[in-house]
Amino acid sequence: MSDFDYDLFVIGAGSGGVRASRIAASHGARVAVAEEYRVGGTCVIRGCVPKKLLVYGAHFAEDIHDARKFGWDVPECKFNWPVLRDNVLAEVDRLEGLYGQTLDNHKVTVLRTRATVVGPQKVRLADGTELTAGRILIATGGWPHVPEFPGSEHALTSNEVFHLETLPKRIIIAGGGYIANEFAGIFNEFGSKVTIVNRGDTILRGYDEQIRDRLLQISMTKGIDFKFNAPFQSIEKNDDGSLTVKLEGCEPMQADAVLVAAGRVPNSRGIGLEEVGVELDKDGAIKVDERNQSSVPSIFAVGDVTNRIQLTPVAIREGQAFSDTFFGGKPTVVDYANVPSAVFSHPPIGAVGMTEAEARNKLGSIRVYTSDFRAMKNVLAGRNERALYKMIVNAATDQVVGLHMIGPDAPEILQAAAIAVKAGLTKADFDATVALHPSMAEELVLLK
Ligand code: NDP
Repeated sequence: MSDFDYDLFVIGAGSGGVRASRIAASHGARVAVAEEYRVGGTCVIRGCVPKKLLVYGAHFAEDIHDARKFGWDVPECKFNWPVLRDNVLAEVDRLEGLYGQTLDNHKVTVLRTRATVVGPQKVRLADGTELTAGRILIATGGWPHVPEFPGSEHALTSNEVFHLETLPKRIIIAGGGYIANEFAGIFNEFGSKVTIVNRGDTILRGYDEQIRDRLLQISMTKGIDFKFNAPFQSIEKNDDGSLTVKLEGCEPMQADAVLVAAGRVPNSRGIGLEEVGVELDKDGAIKVDERNQSSVPSIFAVGDVTNRIQLTPVAIREGQAFSDTFFGGKPTVVDYANVPSAVFSHPPIGAVGMTEAEARNKLGSIRVYTSDFRAMKNVLAGRNERALYKMIVNAATDQVVGLHMIGPDAPEILQAAAIAVKAGLTKADFDATVALHPSMAEELVLLK
């Protein structure tokens, strides 16, 4: 037994913190985790999970419409936001309970309070209690960034959007990234008038250009408006509760809600890190090495607070690697190459590996294969919405170095295909695989 109260004290019970806690405990460590809000973190409570449920809910709008072409006599249907909202929030409650249970089952002490770091191996709880630990893990995640402009306090962020009292008839979404495009699709399907407002002239920076263009084109066809190079000037609240939004270079716009989705900043301030000598970068991210160790040897960090790749499965891997390394005698380093990602827009995007532009810069000689097709279901439904699959191949080795897809179920298909890219398989390996017919995924082995 060490002289410390715990072997590991984790601050933040989100994806990374929960995984690290339970794995360290399963390796025999005495673990406590402090959480000031709800167990589960952004992903479970106000991110991936409730968002995906809203995406499912939204997609019924198209499914119900298309069902008529498949012979179903569908009466006029109305969408009821409070029903979906409450069902989603109830599911979030259920999952939060399960996360808590997992920690209990692993004998992790869960402290539902704020904790701050007051020494390299000491934390203080909100009630003043001080506890010591051999190692401290910071897994406090990130927080929506709201740019400063007059009236920005009237804007919602992804923290509040799941709780809306009523569905906005008109919503303006600031930002052109993941959250903006996902919620644009959701609200548009629910019948809101959606306008995406972007400070620059591109959406989804980092994704392959052709895929981004396809989403833009389909989104516009579905009725989503876009304003580019239009930074926010102000939001004013009107007497009737509506909002007047002023953008640079545009006429003032009226809206019922404004959602700001301008990236997320690491949650690293005000928890005592700088005071004990933990180095942060210019964006406030905790600087860590490949073992997740900060500039203070007993303090570690995983997940969004380190701003490496802000994705749940990455935070989970980091939490697992940390605990295996320091409590399981199994040194593990997370491999950040070929991390697949998805945007749950309407239709969704899935991607892994290099974009065409990246591959041209890094490899020089590449081959690009594309399949631009209308999914069978869309053809019968009379839905003029084309999927686009794109494969990037290193011409020197025949290795597939990137896959980019937009179309129905693209993330589901991409996850399986990402195994092949991660394994370094070649275009010839894809060609050697017999197609599974009829499917959309078969396009991947039929690219010419
Ligand atoms: P993103 O980083 O995806 O996009 C941010 C957007 O906001 C960009 O269009 C960016 O423009 C713009 N922006 C940044 N700063 C400002 C500013 N000061 N003023 C105006 N616009 C600004 O962030 P999100 O908020 O959409 O999502 C946060 C993170 O959460 C994502 O990065 C992702 O890691 C994660 N996430 C993942 C999801 C998934 O896996 N499906 C879903 C939702 C979130 P520019 O391009 O010019 O920089």
